[in-house]
Formats: sequence, structure tokens, C-alpha cells
Amino acid sequence: MSTEPRTITLPTADYGDVTVPEPDWCTGHPNHRPDDQRADIHHSGPDISLTWRGHHITDACIVQTPFTETDVPELSSRTPGVSVSVIARTLDPASLYDLAAALDGYADQLRDLADQLDTILTGGGQ
Ligand SMILES: [Zn+2]
Repeated sequence: MSTEPRTITLPTADYGDVTVPEPDWCTGHPNHRPDDQRADIHHSGPDISLTWRGHHITDACIVQTPFTETDVPELSSRTPGVSVSVIARTLDPASLYDLAAALDGYADQLRDLADQLDTILTGGGQ
């Protein structure tokens, strides 16, 4: 087994073939097109999806754009982050923990609503 860093070479419209280190977490570049710019090169890990009864709610995955020309951490960054589709933002670890805490709180609110609805439906709340 090779100990050399994994790389990938992608054709670009502005820089020709670009060879870039390929992170272990990247699932590849099946949607890369030869007319993409170098700044469009986008590493992406496997999606973690939330679905409920067939309804897609959100996906999250590790992302990195190693040649981005507008390094905005929540949108496109050379620093890996976690892209969360429901908020259309890429988060750092602290923000991702904050989002997870908010979702925990929302789950509690849903349980409270279920309790309230159950009380209403069983005649306990008029
Ligand atoms: Zn990649």
C-alpha cells in the first residue's frame, strides 16, 4: 500500500490539468466538468441525510474548495467545513455544535407539542 498522498488531476478551463491532494474523506469529483474553473474544484465527503417518511429534510457533508477566490468560511473556503443544506451554509466545529444543540432543543419542542396535542385529542385541553 502506498504512503504517498493521494492526488487527483482535474481538467480546468483556466489552468489546464490541475493536480491537487485528494483528502481521504473526499468521495471524488463525478460532477467536475472540463469547462469548470480551477476555483470550482470542490472536495466533498459522503452526505449524512435526514429523511422522515420519505421527505428529504437536509444533508450535511464535509466540503473544501482549495482554490476558492472568495474565501468566505460559511460559503466557500480553503479550510474544510461541514456544508448543511437546510441552512445553505458551511459550518466550523463550534457552529456545527451550536446547530446540533438548536436541533436538540427543537426536538424537545416537538415532543412538547406532541404532548399538548395528545392532551387536546383526549379531551384534556379545551
Ligand atoms: Zn476531492
